[in-house]
Amino acid sequence: MLILGIRIRWRVLDQGTFFCPSCGGDRKYAHKQAKRWFTLFFVPLVPLNAVGDTYECHSCHRTFNERVLHTPTTSDLASRLQWAMRLSVCSMVLDDDPHHQPSRQAAIAAVRSTGATHYSETHLDADLRAIDLTQLSAAAEHLADDFEPAGKEHYLLTSGRVALASGRLSPTNHATLEQLGRSIGLTPAHVHGVLHQLIAEAAPHPLG
Ligand SMILES: [Zn+2]
Repeated sequence: MLILGIRIRWRVLDQGTFFCPSCGGDRKYAHKQAKRWFTLFFVPLVPLNAVGDTYECHSCHRTFNERVLHTPTTSDLASRLQWAMRLSVCSMVLDDDPHHQPSRQAAIAAVRSTGATHYSETHLDADLRAIDLTQLSAAAEHLADDFEPAGKEHYLLTSGRVALASGRLSPTNHATLEQLGRSIGLTPAHVHGVLHQLIAEAAPHPLG
């Protein structure tokens, strides 16, 4: 007697890293596809149609549909923020004397605050020599969709404080920050508020 049947088998198509909504962090996933197989004596013989794809987290083993890949990973967000910060601090420092120590230290601290803890004087020098500042607006626009207003404000304020480390907020840096605020997707009122705060920080504090 022949025993015929249909069985579903899962196959791993590829693997990668995603932001697992269940774990709340970056995790490895396996992209699996289910296929119906025609079986004979319980042995799969003929592949039939695919019945669905799923993305399984290696850590919690929960499965998700492909929309889960639309959420950027934490490391992707961090590297985008680091790139945008390297560009903005170089833009601020290059507007004045690039050897001015307080400006350089503020620039290094700003980039390190994005998680690039290895960023050093050597890295800053390399960036000041070679970085392409025409990419600044695009880098900021690339943060617009995935960062909350508080994160955008922090980015703008941190960049502005690098400019202030030279002792003043120059008209060029003021204009660059205004443009950056627009590129990153803050409202004009919000940008105005951040610039107002920076100008207040730049003003000499009354004694007492
Ligand atoms: Zn997980």
